[in-house]
Amino acid sequence: MLLKMARRCQCAIYDKELGYTRNCRNSCKFEAKGKNYCYIHAVAALSGRCVQIQSVYKSYRTRKKIDKLFVNLPRELQQKVIHYMREPMYLKRVYDKITSYIYPKITLFLEDLDFAVIIFSKTESIYDYLSRPQLNYCYYLLRILTKYYKIINKKKIQDFINVCNTLEINYVISTYDNSIYKTEWLEFLDLFKKFIQVLK
Ligand SMILES: [Zn+2]
Repeated sequence: MLLKMARRCQCAIYDKELGYTRNCRNSCKFEAKGKNYCYIHAVAALSGRCVQIQSVYKSYRTRKKIDKLFVNLPRELQQKVIHYMREPMYLKRVYDKITSYIYPKITLFLEDLDFAVIIFSKTESIYDYLSRPQLNYCYYLLRILTKYYKIINKKKIQDFINVCNTLEINYVISTYDNSIYKTEWLEFLDLFKKFIQVLK
């Protein structure tokens, strides 16, 4: 006990009252490199080093674990691991495939539209703007765009969004109070709303 009491921190501190530098009087809690540290000085002097040691050791352990795991994996699983390591590359290929399928469909839909009717005629039935096949096609596009919005270039579908926007406005200004035609619009409004929500 006495021995323990006798061990003091060996760090130098400036004593404001005495006006000179003396050794810290706190009791020793740690010993490193043959020097005694109290808790406060140990944290100040050694914590940076501790974090460094911890992080190096952690990455070493992780690497060792992965190496060991990898070697012990069956061959087909090793291939799977390699596949996932290359995943970003594979994903890009898949994304390109999907978008190269979607954009032409959008173009096809737009080419088939009568823009003058959509922009200028304000009627209450949605079928005055789009035929049934056109409308179904529009629903289909809204569904796949909602599904793949993350990989879609918004600029490339801006015309399509504008058409849908115009249709929605037409609905609001023409048929809002008219319950006879309202049900015709519901599916379109619902799908377009969902799409806009994911787009935000
Ligand atoms: Zn100290």
